[in-house]
Amino acid sequence: KFITFEGIDGAGKSTHLAYVADLLRSSGKTVIVTREPGGTPLGEKLRELLLHEKMHLETEALLMFAARREHLAHVIEPALARGEWVISDRFTDATFAYQGGGRKLDLIKLSALEEWVHPGFQPDLTLLFDVPLEVARARLDASRELDKFEREKADFFAATRTEYLRRAEQFPERFRVIDSTGTFADVHAELGQIIACI
Ligand code: C5P
Repeated sequence: KFITFEGIDGAGKSTHLAYVADLLRSSGKTVIVTREPGGTPLGEKLRELLLHEKMHLETEALLMFAARREHLAHVIEPALARGEWVISDRFTDATFAYQGGGRKLDLIKLSALEEWVHPGFQPDLTLLFDVPLEVARARLDASRELDKFEREKADFFAATRTEYLRRAEQFPERFRVIDSTGTFADVHAELGQIIACI
């Protein structure tokens, strides 16, 4: 099965990823943990460019999908074919949320790229970690050095979050929205219930 973790910067998704991986492993599953942009040697090079270089916003979207093509071909598809579980820290929903919602790129163009790169293929489960913007911002400010996306203004994140939540409503069969303002124990309990059902 293929599980993706999504949420705006500072929503806490990466923190909870290891917990879910451990949960699955303790029930005997083989789990691969990976991330986007990145996940392959070429994808990680593209990630460096994406996170630190200024570029046209369509170039950004195209490179996201280029990295994703590599990721699918070399990591995600082979692992799923072996019957393993794959957990990815971000996938295509992030492109809709950040490049579509945040950067206002035409969603139809993004859908066309999605259709090109992974026609008919979607995660089995998408965990959307959601927090109010002020909480996310406070967490970011308290953390490491920020990359170019993380230095964006509040309205960028508001639009990104809105698009994430819109997609969660559009695809309720695979999305679970997790209120990430709760304590670790609350969030872990909720994750435990969700994982038990898939
Ligand atoms: O998930 P992570 O925080 O490692 O992502 C790195 C950065 O890339 C984040 O700041 C995120 O906002 C940005 N990003 C993006 N568009 C994507 C995926 C990630 O702007 N499609």
